[in-house]
Order: sequence, then structure tokens, then C-alpha cells
Amino acid sequence: MKFKIINGTIFDPSQKINGKKKDLFIDSGFIVEPKKNELTKFKETIDAKGLIVMAGAIDIHSHIAGGNVNNARLLSPEIHSNFLEINLKRKKNLPGFNSRWTSEGTGYRYAEMGFTTVVEPAVLPINAFMTHLEIEKIPMIDKGCLGIVGNDGFLLEALHKKKGQPYIDDYVAWNLDSSKCIGLKVINAGGTELFKYSGESESFNIDDIVPEYGVTSRQILESLNKANENLNIPHPVHVHCNNLGTAGNVDSILATIDAAKGRRMHLAHIQFYAYGNEGKKGFSSESVKLAEAINKNTNISVDIGQIMFKPTITISSDIWKQNQAKANANPNKWMISEIEDGGGGIIPYEYKENNFVNALQWSIGLELFLQINDPWRVFLTTDHPNGAPFTSYPELIRLLMDLSYRNAELEKINIKAKELSYLKSLKRTYSFYDIAIMTRAAPAKILGFKDRGSLKNGSIADISIYNPNKPIDKMFRGAEYVFKNGVQIVRNGFVTRHFKTRTECVKLNYDKKIHKEIKDWFDAYYSLNLREFEIDEKFFSDENFHTMNQ
Ligand SMILES: [Zn+2]
Repeated sequence: MKFKIINGTIFDPSQKINGKKKDLFIDSGFIVEPKKNELTKFKETIDAKGLIVMAGAIDIHSHIAGGNVNNARLLSPEIHSNFLEINLKRKKNLPGFNSRWTSEGTGYRYAEMGFTTVVEPAVLPINAFMTHLEIEKIPMIDKGCLGIVGNDGFLLEALHKKKGQPYIDDYVAWNLDSSKCIGLKVINAGGTELFKYSGESESFNIDDIVPEYGVTSRQILESLNKANENLNIPHPVHVHCNNLGTAGNVDSILATIDAAKGRRMHLAHIQFYAYGNEGKKGFSSESVKLAEAINKNTNISVDIGQIMFKPTITISSDIWKQNQAKANANPNKWMISEIEDGGGGIIPYEYKENNFVNALQWSIGLELFLQINDPWRVFLTTDHPNGAPFTSYPELIRLLMDLSYRNAELEKINIKAKELSYLKSLKRTYSFYDIAIMTRAAPAKILGFKDRGSLKNGSIADISIYNPNKPIDKMFRGAEYVFKNGVQIVRNGFVTRHFKTRTECVKLNYDKKIHKEIKDWFDAYYSLNLREFEIDEKFFSDENFHTMNQ
């Protein structure tokens, strides 16, 4: 179908278009530039006068599916109602209406905010098949997954036995290939193995040694980062650093930046690592130090993992950390599981503005957003649902764009935290152009998506149109129009139709001889068969998996 969007004000950093009036032409799901004599064929017209037009937004890190998400659903049914009840009441004609926090609901909520692609950043190989079945059920948004490596026995043994980098490259490639992921995720490299071996420990630092295997966290990271480069994986290795959430942990993330040795690396939810141990309470902001390091090291990209003041549930495959955090469970229930080198911890939690630590965490996240200068290297996340549900993005965007709103919110937080906060001295606000970089052009670039995050000729027609006459949070809560592959899926902030989407994959070249070695290892040490880890496409619809244009 051919149509055009006229009179809109365009923000498209991929073409350096900053608030310029320009008409868009869409043909068969793609943005096109028709010749003059073809213009009359674009009869159907959307008039976007007074509205803002951006590419569909891309979320680089949001836990939307998989074993941990399902365990969280089971553990905390009370959250489902808070999360989705009101919104789903009006969706009687859509699948997924009669239950809450559904796969479908995830797609609907994202679409209403103008998001059209989301990355699930923590797929355990053992869970990959089930995760993909679930992800296939998420409509409206295209999906991509990051596969977890770094605490798996096969890898640690390969490092221990000094099998060499090509051997590790092949293993990593098999891992991504068989679990249909687009990138590598490393979570507390070696820390889970330490936890499994010796239980609770106060810290696990980058040069600490993983028991039995005799390798350090630094060695694991370095070998995976090299594999990422050697295999030409578009997205840099995506790292959840050691010692998440502990006072004084800024040293861990600074050491990780150092360990990257100038190679590309993405650091996830860095708010949880910008902590000092100064002051009476032994907890302070180190956002200045961390932001400086990120500004200086242009090989590093980050997402923030902003916390927002509301009840949520923390889910993470960092079982070392979740075991520490279980003491703070609210309500007081938790779950920690581990099987076949894959596990997770589920801890319900409520961030409160009158709590000193929570209030400072909130401030630290914003301090980082405002002190990292380059919006191409910092991404909007709440580490959904760990810092807050992704449905909090509209308020978060307002905090970044609206100084008087931010200052008013700062007034409400714990007074001791407010005294320590750097926020009052930070006057920077994000512009629409900055938001378009951070949520569109930059995530497309860093994930290696050449076909989206842009309104240029040839891009897929994922387009969001917003009304800037509304308050910023309301504007980003409900887009006026959203188009996915050129099909209108949202109007006036509401989903208008169910739209089936795809899961992106990468194609990797590697020596398949590694398969025999992996099979022998699995047969010797795992209870499940290797085949159980390898996605069989016959269980999915023909169009579900799509290989990225690399
Ligand atoms: Zn995460």
C-alpha cells in the first residue's frame, strides 16, 4: 500500500534532520523517495501538521521473555494487576485480554509508546527454545535476543585448558547460532560459578579467580570480547559487570572499562554501578567519576537502568547478586534457581522516594544521563523490570527534558539523599533531537540494524508520530500514530490492531567441528540432550526468524 505523511516536523538524527518539515512516502512497508511523476500514486494522506515525526523507537535492554520473566509472573501475581489491569480493560477485542502481564500486553504497551523493536538481553541457552516460543507471541514490535555466556562450564574449561581463541570463537558462534541470538551477553563473568562453588561472598572482582577453573573474570571477558570481534558480531559484547548494587562498586565498572583495552563494549544498567561508600551511611554517588570515564573512552556505550519510585520485581541471571538481595525482598518472598549453567533470581522490590538509598539511586541514574555528553553512547533503559517497568519511560523522558519538572521531583526525595545529590547543579535538558538519537538512531547503529531507527529512503516504515502540545510524559505515553512495516497499529495512543512481528537473527561463519566437542561435554555433564539447546525452526511460523542485513 502507498501513502504519505505530510506537514510533520521530522527528527531523524540518522540524516541529521533536526525539526524540519518534510513529507514522507511509504510504499509496501518501506520509506521511499518517489520520482515527481509517481507522487500522484500516493493518494492516501496522513496530515501530521503540528505533530512530531520520528522513526519507531528501539529498546536495547528489556527483559520481556524467558524463564526468569515467567518465574516472576508465578512468584508475584499481585504485580500483574498493577502492571496491566487498567490498560487491558479496553482491549476486549485483542488476544491476551483475559490475563495480565502477557506476551501480547508487552507488545501493546510498547507500541502505544511508539516503540517498534525491543531487545531481550538475557537468553540462557537452556531456555532459548521456550523464550523464542514466547517471543514469537509478542506482537507489534520486532525482537532480538542476546545470549548469555561467561559462566558456562564448556567455556571455562576451554579457558582452563588453554584451548585457544579460535576454539572459543567457534563455541560462542555455535551458542548464538543455536539459540538464535543477535549478540553476546556476559553477566558477572565467573561470579555465578563462584557462587555455585562456595556460596555467598562479599565481592567478586575482575582479577579474582574462578575456583576450579583457575581463570579470572578479566580473562573470561577478554576472550569473549575477542570472539565478538573475530566473529564480526554487529553488537559489541554486552556486559553486566561484577558487584552489581554494592556500595563502592564504581571501581568494578572502571576496571571493566579498563579491561576492554579500547575494544568496543556495551555496559548495561550502569546506574547500579555508580556507587561510592562515602558518608555516614556508607553509600554515595560516584556518577561524576563514572561519567568522566565514559566520556573519555569512546569505545564504551552504556544504558542507564534508571530506577523509578514504584513497586517492581527484580529478575536477573546474576544469582550471586540476587542471593545477596533476597534479604530486601518486598513482599518477603523470593526465588533462586540454577540448572545446566543457567539460572536466575527473582526478588520483588519497591523503590521508595523516602528511602535514602533508593532516592540516591534515582538521582544517580539521572546524574549519569546528564553528565554523559554523547547521546549516541547512552541509552534509555530501566533494565525492565529491575529498575522500573518499561511503561515508566514517558516519565523518565520528561525528567530528562523538563528542568522544572525534574527539580520539583527532586524536592520530594529523601532529604539526606537530596543533600548528596548532584542533580541540583545539572541544568542540562535533552532535546527532541537528543531523544531521537538515544531511542532511535543510536540503538539501531549499536545493534547493527541498518534497516531501522531511521526515516531515510529504504528503511522499513516503522514510524511514530507524537503531539508536542501535550505534556512530555503524556506525549510519549500515547503516540498519535504508530506504523509498523507501514501498517497503522496505534491511533490516539491506543492499539488499533494486532500485528504479528519477527525475531531478528545473525548469520555467523564458524567451524562446525566444535559441535562434536560440545556434544561430548553436554553428554558428560548435563542432564539434558544437546538437541534441547538448539532451536528447531519447525516449531515456529515460516516468517518468524529473519536474518539481519549485516
Ligand atoms: Zn538487565
